[in-house]
Amino acid sequence: MTPEEFREHGKRVVDWIADYLVDVEKCPVRSPARPGEVRSALPAHAPERGADFDAVLADMERIVLPGITHWQHPNFFAYFPANASGPAILGDLLSAGLGVQGMVWATSPACTELETVVVDWLAELLGLPGHFRTDGAGGGVIQDSASSAVLVALLAALHRVRKRTGSAPRPVRYTMYVSGQTHSSVERAGRICGVGTDNVRIVDVDPNTLAMDPRQLERLISADIAAGAVPVFVCATIGTTSTTAIDPVRAIGEICRSHDVWLHVDAAYAGVAAICPEMRWINDGVAEYADSYASNAHKWLLTNFDCGLLWVADRQPLIGALSALPEYLRNTASESGEVIDYRDWQVPLGRRFRALKLWSVIRWYGAEGLRAHIRAGIAMADEFAALVSADPNFEVLDPHHFGLVCFRPLWTETDPERADELTMRLMESLNDSGDMFLSHTKVRGRVVLRMAIGAPATGMSHVRAAWSRIRAVRSQFA
Ligand code: PLP
Repeated sequence: MTPEEFREHGKRVVDWIADYLVDVEKCPVRSPARPGEVRSALPAHAPERGADFDAVLADMERIVLPGITHWQHPNFFAYFPANASGPAILGDLLSAGLGVQGMVWATSPACTELETVVVDWLAELLGLPGHFRTDGAGGGVIQDSASSAVLVALLAALHRVRKRTGSAPRPVRYTMYVSGQTHSSVERAGRICGVGTDNVRIVDVDPNTLAMDPRQLERLISADIAAGAVPVFVCATIGTTSTTAIDPVRAIGEICRSHDVWLHVDAAYAGVAAICPEMRWINDGVAEYADSYASNAHKWLLTNFDCGLLWVADRQPLIGALSALPEYLRNTASESGEVIDYRDWQVPLGRRFRALKLWSVIRWYGAEGLRAHIRAGIAMADEFAALVSADPNFEVLDPHHFGLVCFRPLWTETDPERADELTMRLMESLNDSGDMFLSHTKVRGRVVLRMAIGAPATGMSHVRAAWSRIRAVRSQFA
């Protein structure tokens, strides 16, 4: 494709995306495609001869779109909504256009330095402590996901503890600590790093708040030390995936400090809410105790997937764990020590120019625009929760601090399992209708529905309409 052909087709693609965003509300939110349907509509073998780009767009409409679940739909309330936005899409397009591979500073200085600037900007906007900034002892880096962020944080923690313990006379058994509400990526990181599932301790949660119980954490750590293990890593969550519960970071941090254990704070969804000063309380204890902190701009900060942010209080263990310098990457800038090489802050070598989309987003919306987005999500969630609470046929699970409201319908059916089946059927019926998309979880053994508000296109009229539909379908099932 020549640049002129690119110009012509590129304009059409941008128009196509703009039309899609205008019309997305007309699509069923969840794709009705059955397993294998998209695949069977595609040729079994790659084409021998090239085709015009019009053919690609035609197949997008005919084959791909019916297999799309529309994350940009205003009635997308499942999981945590994706946060695409115009400036993020354009920033991503610029990144693709430049085709930069930013593995080390020398492979594209702006790719590294723009990233440093935006992660430092964001650290300041979120009120994170100064030592998380690049001009402090630590720094931030953009990862593809919170899963990668916790993996590299664990690698750094293991590196730090190995340096501390030196070469042990016999194999060391490392242990790490999560709660039953911690995201599964943390346990997976433990498996990947060789800590092993058996050494991932599950700390109890408070049955009411679903937050990690620090007293049990202390007991487990002490018991492991007494048994000869080396506790290495605790993950506290601010905004758990199921219900957005908040672990007591300060109390957990004090325990980590007293045993010299790395504290990672997973604020994948909720952390960006701290851009609003009135939400900064969620980070209580982070400044004093967190060794690393992760939050995803792609979950709630108007930035397309993928854009996971990780900050560390001290960059040395991270770089120590991950740096490698083969001859073919040697260069004078790296050797001068004056530059950052972010490939030492992540698992893969290669890296996309992700900072461009985040930079575009921050510049387009400004901090006040981003705050307005977060506040709108919280306000809509509050209003939704008030509507649900006012209905005697439903129950809201409190508290809800962010854009997620967990709730459940109440049934005359007294058998909990059968009542849960009805709840699931209610949800499937709503999701099958294409009108809206909710997801579910289990809390204290019971099925609850998750209404996650925060897709950029969602307004209160959508939330009210969704509530009417939920009530109407419940009454059909009752
Ligand atoms: N941590 C929490 C608390 C999450 O809610 C999620 C995803 O929802 C993750 C981690 C994983 O995020 P990612 O998909 O960026 O790996």
